Amino acid sequence: MFVNNCGNTVVSYIIHFLIGESNAEKWQRLIGYTADQREFHQYGIVIVPASSICFPTSAPAENDMPALPLTDIEGVPLLFGRPVVEWAGETLVVYADIIASSFFLLSRYEEMRRRGVRDRYGRFPGKESLPCKAGFIHRPVVDEYGRLLRGWLRRTGVDVPEPEPGIRKIWLTHDVDEPFFCRTFRNVLREAVKGAGIGKAWRLFKGPLEADPFYTFPWIVEQDNRLQKAVGRHRCEPLFFIKGGGRTKQDRPVYNLHSADMQSLLAISRTEQVGIGLHSSYSAGKNPVRIAAEKERLQKATGMKIHDNRHHYLSLCEPEDCSWLERAGITDDFTMGYADVAGFRLGTCRPVRWINPATRSVSSLTLHPLTVMDVSLSDPRYMHLAYDEALEYCLQLFDRVARSAGELVLLWHNNTVTGERTFLTSATWHRKLYETLIQELAKQ
Ligand SMILES: [Zn+2]
Repeated sequence: MFVNNCGNTVVSYIIHFLIGESNAEKWQRLIGYTADQREFHQYGIVIVPASSICFPTSAPAENDMPALPLTDIEGVPLLFGRPVVEWAGETLVVYADIIASSFFLLSRYEEMRRRGVRDRYGRFPGKESLPCKAGFIHRPVVDEYGRLLRGWLRRTGVDVPEPEPGIRKIWLTHDVDEPFFCRTFRNVLREAVKGAGIGKAWRLFKGPLEADPFYTFPWIVEQDNRLQKAVGRHRCEPLFFIKGGGRTKQDRPVYNLHSADMQSLLAISRTEQVGIGLHSSYSAGKNPVRIAAEKERLQKATGMKIHDNRHHYLSLCEPEDCSWLERAGITDDFTMGYADVAGFRLGTCRPVRWINPATRSVSSLTLHPLTVMDVSLSDPRYMHLAYDEALEYCLQLFDRVARSAGELVLLWHNNTVTGERTFLTSATWHRKLYETLIQELAKQ
């Protein structure tokens, strides 16, 4: 499906992805990726490789890490090559290597090459990433390369259209880390030990589920329904990511999927048509062989076939670990954002096949880039923004997604929208921000 004259599947897929799904079949054969001048005449456009990063090799490719400061082409940062476009006879020859640049970003090549750079949870820090250091984490530059490539195709006389601007799809996702604040006897003891008031804890334990401060799901569903109604169900899908296991401190509380309270939450998801995905545990982030068992447990408890995933703590640490998602029968993953900075970790805001940077192969797993996670904006260790700054930053990202006709993936937790400080966040404005963002998106 993704084979053009280059004979290299990953290069063909990237060309296909850059042109855009609807037009790719028609035009991808016009584009060559070669430095061999004798072959130039076979193509309408030739992109000249400036790095061997896309080609299978047993050792790290030469010239495989872009040097800062980057140059740019027509205002778009360029990772490899020179901003030179010139005619050779009837062929437009492009020395800006947007193929290698796209591969570097889409495959998380940098994370594979810099294994020693990880945070305390084993994750590659966004602030260490090239897009952050070069100042373009807020731009989906791979999609901008697509716009350049379509422009060059038009220069060769091909009538390739630009996609209609607008957000194609909005995923409203909610990771269920801690669904209830005080609903077990253990929770009551915890509060008593803290000296937080055993009377109040006992009342929450014995009272109705709706009085529990972390049980904000009815409010979340109300917001999500409002947006679905405004933009249409096909354009807006809510998802709850629910845990199916976990053994480390970071995985606590481990909740009982069969408890009456959990069954109430699952009942909401059924009646309100909220999708359920697996929230793979932090343990599974460290040891991805566990993903399959956790998925199995969640499927049994919900009676549903699970095919979506997001890792707790976004702890899908190594690029190659995605292969374990595939093996577990996951078809769609929503983990691909940096915890410490919101933006475009994969350089795109469109769903993209996972590219294995080690084998240079294209898989059947689809990655849905995570645009914004609530705590990335507010956490003092991360972006540490005030409400107004967070709102402005989010709207800027929304605008970028709309310009690229991409997808928006929002992640808001049930225990950040309580309006109070919680373990997860000291910012009390996440409820207000989510409500405002939903209103803004309803106008789209
Ligand atoms: Zn989580």
